[in-house]
Amino acid sequence: MKVDILGAYGGSTDTSFLTSFLIDDFLALDAGCLTQTLNLENQVKVTDILISHTHLDHTLSLAFLVDNMFGLRDEPLKIWSGTAMIQAMRQHIFNDVIWPDFTLLPNAEEATMFFREVTPEVTFNIRHLRITAVPVNHVVPCFAFFVECTKTGGCILYTADTSTTERVWEVANKVKRLDAVIVDCSFPNHMEDLAVASGHMTPAMLAADLKKLKRDCKIMIYHIKPMFEELMLAELAEQKIPNLVVGIQSKTYQF
Ligand SMILES: [Zn+2]
Ligand SMILES: [Zn+2]
Repeated sequence: MKVDILGAYGGSTDTSFLTSFLIDDFLALDAGCLTQTLNLENQVKVTDILISHTHLDHTLSLAFLVDNMFGLRDEPLKIWSGTAMIQAMRQHIFNDVIWPDFTLLPNAEEATMFFREVTPEVTFNIRHLRITAVPVNHVVPCFAFFVECTKTGGCILYTADTSTTERVWEVANKVKRLDAVIVDCSFPNHMEDLAVASGHMTPAMLAADLKKLKRDCKIMIYHIKPMFEELMLAELAEQKIPNLVVGIQSKTYQF
């Protein structure tokens, strides 16, 4: 499977895009920057979006993507997430105040988008991809997603936003193949209190947490806060984490 890094940051600037990864052109992992990084033609190709949690840096472009789709799409856009996240998106984003309820537009029968509920640790398929959600430790309900390609056998884990966590590493140690982990690292080491309070990791916290992962795979950092990037890259290098790469926007990986 092809994985395009559209946005890899936990903050927004003219050069730092919010979190979105695109798999095989049709499945997005989170929706921080889909409309900022994809032209209309490529936006239409996105048929399914996995939403890890409701924070704006992971959902912002959903509002504008769905708004761009009138008349361009035969099928509704499918938004996959947990029960609590879907309820929150309905209540706080698509509530006819902040943004229209696109599950009823232009009408309920031919809606522009609909929500699909995901149950933790129950694997499901979207085309040739097998998806498994596992809850992680953030300040709101949040899912990590395992995405396995049935064509190549490749498998990645996207932790989404998380602080020190347990269950996702247990599952990661059991899957039959794991090629890469895309993992949160948001704040420099001296801001550990803030990282813990906001449900994120520092380089030192990440290095300690990765000791629970007994797999030899690529470790890809995402969610760096742009204002701390230089310091954090130096701190990450000090940790000497094996197979570490920093997620680079607009780079493509094959698994
Ligand atoms: Zn985030
Ligand atoms: Zn978050």
